[in-house]
Amino acid sequence: MTAKTFYIETFGCQMNAHDSEKVIGTLVSRGYSQVETPEAAGLVLYNTCSIRDKAEQKVFNRLQQFKRDAGKGKVFGVLGCVAQQEGEKIFERAPHVSLVAGSASYTKLPQMLVQLEAGERRVTGLSLDTDETFETPFTRRDNPHRAYITIIEGCDKSCAYCVVPFTRGPERSRTGESVIAEARRLADAGYTEIQLLGQNVNSYRDPSAAGWDFATLLARVGEVPGIRRVRFTTSHPRDFVKAIVDAIDSNPVLCDHVHLPVQSGSNRVLNAMDRLYTLDEYMRRIEWLKNARRNIAITTDIIVGFPGETEADFNATLALLDEVQYDSLFSFKYSPRPNTAALAMSDQIPEEEKTRRVMMVQERQRAIQIRRNSEAIGAVQEVLVEGRNQAMGQWIGRTSQNRTLNFVHENGNGTDFRGQYLHVRVTRAGPNSLVGESVM
Ligand code: SF4
Repeated sequence: MTAKTFYIETFGCQMNAHDSEKVIGTLVSRGYSQVETPEAAGLVLYNTCSIRDKAEQKVFNRLQQFKRDAGKGKVFGVLGCVAQQEGEKIFERAPHVSLVAGSASYTKLPQMLVQLEAGERRVTGLSLDTDETFETPFTRRDNPHRAYITIIEGCDKSCAYCVVPFTRGPERSRTGESVIAEARRLADAGYTEIQLLGQNVNSYRDPSAAGWDFATLLARVGEVPGIRRVRFTTSHPRDFVKAIVDAIDSNPVLCDHVHLPVQSGSNRVLNAMDRLYTLDEYMRRIEWLKNARRNIAITTDIIVGFPGETEADFNATLALLDEVQYDSLFSFKYSPRPNTAALAMSDQIPEEEKTRRVMMVQERQRAIQIRRNSEAIGAVQEVLVEGRNQAMGQWIGRTSQNRTLNFVHENGNGTDFRGQYLHVRVTRAGPNSLVGESVM
């Protein structure tokens, strides 16, 4: 390898974003410096996502684009879910790649880098050992105020459409003590918001003698001095218990937002997806959230066009949106993935029909969000200031409910408010954000 410079592009979810922070930390601690373009880098890394076919294709297109540079001392690496899923087959598809490593192998990165630096042509890290620790000693966090903490890796569910159990392996939880220690270090370093991460945080179980469940861990993280907000993602309805809502009710540091992916409003489809809950069971959890003392925002994920989804099944999903009145949602067209049970299911839905359905979900949800967001007009909300929109003359804030609230501050006098918590009165609402003015 020539210069010790690297470029990394990240695809996919927050778990991947945080994994990239670990990779960057590891590289920087070994004397590498990060550059902004693949052209300027000696080592080009793609941290990949394989949840949908499109995301996977994008990585191979990127690799293709820079193929000609491979002979000029540039080294290419594929990390993350596509690496784990495709393994050494990546070398056949993109022969100029030298490093293929899944997320469970990032602690071995220093060793792999030594091999690459010594000129080894191909290095892999593909083990999914359950005793492999998933925390790297160095992490370079992207955001100066909000920090991610991985509390559980992998997934023991087997949703029929999902590739994650194959790419991230079985569940492994960290000890509560190590999570609290990391939260304390982050608070000491000036971070005020923490986001606990896992494929299914609700099934967290402290492997030490303490044996904390997720609700206990959440409550304890909320007690760390200096931490003003705690979020978590993502939840599985089957493992989502009332104690989590009680914890949120008891401590305003725990944000009043829960993302509870439902995927479909039809019991028949939920069963085919192997989601392990019925609509009634899901709605019981929604009831806990709606009956909470705090005004907890509820968001979800929807998949349309799962094999065999009829018009009646799809209408049941639309009816669910009307009933729950979600604050926001992510909607996806079902994408067939390797190794998954749904791949072999008959009655695959044509692409145009999936597109029609996803557009209908988005249209229905847009109207709901306009209504939900309008309810906030006149209220004063606390925001963490995340940035500045210079062109609009507005500050960009985020509420505890995870809404974007853009606002003006009359007496700023050139002050940089980023990282501060301010009170803002909501004056207008759109489908995706709120607008307001700061309250002195
Ligand atoms: S709970 Fe289901 S959708 Fe979520 S990561 Fe596990 S298998 Fe995938």
